[in-house]
Amino acid sequence: MRVGEIKLFAGLDAFGEMRFIGEVERGANCGCFCPECSSPLVAKQGDLLEWHFAHVAGQEAPQCEAGAVNLLRRLVLEYLQEKGLPDLPPYRQRVSAASRLREVSEVVEWSAEVSPGSIAWVDKPSRTEAVGRCRLDNGADVQVFVEISAPSASRPSFPAGEAGILVFWVPLPESSQLRQRTHALEHVRHQGRLYWYHQPDVRGLVAAAQSRVNSVARDNEERLARDAGRRWKAVHDRLVQSGAQDERSHRAVYWRSVTPRSKRRNTTGPLAGNLIPVSFSTACARVRHG
Ligand SMILES: [Zn+2]
Repeated sequence: MRVGEIKLFAGLDAFGEMRFIGEVERGANCGCFCPECSSPLVAKQGDLLEWHFAHVAGQEAPQCEAGAVNLLRRLVLEYLQEKGLPDLPPYRQRVSAASRLREVSEVVEWSAEVSPGSIAWVDKPSRTEAVGRCRLDNGADVQVFVEISAPSASRPSFPAGEAGILVFWVPLPESSQLRQRTHALEHVRHQGRLYWYHQPDVRGLVAAAQSRVNSVARDNEERLARDAGRRWKAVHDRLVQSGAQDERSHRAVYWRSVTPRSKRRNTTGPLAGNLIPVSFSTACARVRHG
């Protein structure tokens, strides 16, 4: 099931409190209203279909489709406000630098806790908004987001900013778990997971690791350049020993030095320019001009 497919499992009573489908009277006596359009609802508690609320005479507005998801988010937020955030997982970030030899990488990891009393929850956050903010004991500011999705769904992306991003993810519950508030809360408690989307590098640990891998990658590049220099020095020495003076003779010397004897008869010979690397011209020029 996808998030958009959950049916309206709760409505709002006359006091604006969330009432679950298994906790109200059947039919029009449920006393509930749509959380999106405020129309009266009927409670469908049949034997065949999953229990859900429907609008009287099917008078749904387009925005009512999001009603179920918004109520789930509200339930998760109420849970977090009451219980607080679970223990924060350690933060891990991989840093890497490309080099022609191989990619150099390092994983940086650290732990931080929420500073006591620093959490501020947002009243009625929109679907794309953070539900809360807090400060970590290392001084970083963090936004808390709630995400409800099927376990197979791809992870969403969040807006990049100065603050870190912590996500409380809850897998989509089965409809049977949404009849009673207590069952829905059990699901949130057992299945909800915190994960780090991003944490600011307030202690410079990521920057230090990045500088280490950059330095290793730079060393690799320099080693490659030195090796290449030695190879061309060898070619240069062969050209000098040959005593050849013009480019045509240089190409011949180079071609003989890199082409096995058995292959020489079958090619067009030393003037096949596309067989000669570009840097070869540089090597020849050095020999000719000293
Ligand atoms: Zn509605």
